[in-house]
Amino acid sequence: MDSSTATPEERTTVSRGDTKVVVLGSHGGQQITQLTGSHLRCGTSMLIDVGGEVTVVDCGCGSVHRLAEAGYDAHQVRTVLVTHCHADHVAELGSLVSFAWSSGRNGADPDRRLDVYGPTGTGDYEAGLKRSLARSIADQEGPLAQTPPFDAFATWHEFTPPPTTRTLVERPDLVVQAIRVRHGSMPSVGYRVRTPDVDVAISGDRGVGGDSFDAFAAGADVLVHEVIDRPLVTGVLEAEGAAPSFVRHLVDDHTDAPDVGRTATAAGVDTLVLYHLIPGNPAITDDRWVDLVRPTYDGAIVVARDLMVI
Ligand SMILES: [Zn+2]
Ligand SMILES: [Zn+2]
Repeated sequence: MDSSTATPEERTTVSRGDTKVVVLGSHGGQQITQLTGSHLRCGTSMLIDVGGEVTVVDCGCGSVHRLAEAGYDAHQVRTVLVTHCHADHVAELGSLVSFAWSSGRNGADPDRRLDVYGPTGTGDYEAGLKRSLARSIADQEGPLAQTPPFDAFATWHEFTPPPTTRTLVERPDLVVQAIRVRHGSMPSVGYRVRTPDVDVAISGDRGVGGDSFDAFAAGADVLVHEVIDRPLVTGVLEAEGAAPSFVRHLVDDHTDAPDVGRTATAAGVDTLVLYHLIPGNPAITDDRWVDLVRPTYDGAIVVARDLMVI
């Protein structure tokens, strides 16, 4: 499609060649939302498809269904990148990994495997998942003779959030780097994912200051960054009598819209995608988000919606 005639939702700004970048979930925070209709938002998740081999970044609530709605099968997922272990980012991690294992069952491809990378806390998740699925895994590996065994299929790589750039994956089709971002007391990272076609920086959840993410993201084709409408959220929560510690977490550990613009400007990226929207209420218009960021950033701004190909 000629991008000059495409609507904003149809226009792709980043995907090219064999690489497709898809928003699976654009909502920030821990709530269950409706999944019907592409204009509604489920929990945080991004997908990067390189020639049919899929990398998923975070697995928020609803993201497994969004994966299917985007036209993918779980068995295509080869790499999962976890930014941190807040529930809105790992709610469906176990479902994704276990169904990815099951959906390519019985050795059709004995070398098939999935790698999960995540910061401190990911190992606890792995151990808890295996405990909770112990009977299912034992039954599938035993009487049902499913191969490869779960542990041979899913390899978990927990790492300490690195203060400087650390390379986790280095293959011709995929390079993944991570860096620590500041997100309160939660060990957290941002990622840089390079394919032969596209170079994507993803913030995960972060507050401003105290990390080197701006430099880490420099030169990427696109910056996918979380955002909060701080004055709106603070006002609503205080009016509702929310616990001060919770309000502080939202305000201090997420990035207000003008600061997202400053990060995008500092990184020198041409395109900024706003995701992990707080609030994620679709009644808040794209124009409002763009107006909040525009004073500090003059590049292209895309407000993520579920199933959008960017
Ligand atoms: Zn979050
Ligand atoms: Zn978080």
